Amino acid sequence: MPSKPSEEWPPLRIGALDRVFVLTGAGISAESGIATFRDANGLWNQHPVEQVASPAGWRADPELVWRFYSERRAQAAACPPNAAHRALAELERALGERLFLCTQNVDDLHERAGSEQVLHMHGELFRTRCESPSCASEPYEDRAEHSRTVPRCTRCQARLRPHICWFGEVPFEMQRITAALEACTVFVTVGSSGAVYPAAGFVAQLRMARELGHVSRLVYVGPEEPENADYFDECRLGGAVATLPTLFEVG
Ligand code: NAD
Repeated sequence: MPSKPSEEWPPLRIGALDRVFVLTGAGISAESGIATFRDANGLWNQHPVEQVASPAGWRADPELVWRFYSERRAQAAACPPNAAHRALAELERALGERLFLCTQNVDDLHERAGSEQVLHMHGELFRTRCESPSCASEPYEDRAEHSRTVPRCTRCQARLRPHICWFGEVPFEMQRITAALEACTVFVTVGSSGAVYPAAGFVAQLRMARELGHVSRLVYVGPEEPENADYFDECRLGGAVATLPTLFEVG
């Protein structure tokens, strides 16, 4: 897997028949001011992830979990989207449904930059849902901060929880993701350490699909090589803001 600074690579040509899958991670929002996990040595804003992002943490202390996500809501609301988010919104305008944008991020910076079709595989910070699997209520938009008490479902009175995929839970919409991976001819990951599965395994899946004749270009963008670097054809080393605006050349 060749690695070199992003400015030394030619633009990534996107032809009329190409279908592009872009996977974004915490790194794309770093330059907007939202800390990644990596930067904090596995802590998420000073908290061990199991405490605030796992079903066991929720069972042990739901007030703490809501305080944590309330702080994340306040922080994300104050952070503006950056040029990398905007470049992907522009790519969507150029490619329409030939772009599949899948993010591991729970922030809403892609949407605020103008992207209309975003699959949040790990959920959304600004949505809340009932924790009861038998309740018929749907996740709903919620920008409130629940820092003092755990809110309750108006339909069944069970506790309401953040609409987030915690460690140990199954990410959302894996069927749609699998179909888009099978269809793509260009796969680009931006700012993801390659350590959190199943997303970290997508590139390996596409590598193996080559044996069956499925051809795709596999490109990574970020300041350092990710843990799954060996599966990519190209590692374009650079920050998302410097790299994304000139990455794609749509022919
Ligand atoms: P990660 O924290 O494990 O890794 C971040 C990656 O971003 C690193 O590889 C780093 O080199 C790269 N990076 C740092 N600065 C960058 C920049 N300017 N441009 C491009 N890349 C940059 O993140 P992950 O792989 O996405 O996985 C962590 C999990 O954390 C995800 O499940 C996600 O849900 C959650 N998370 C989300 C947010 C958010 O919503 N913004 C923030 C923190 C964590």
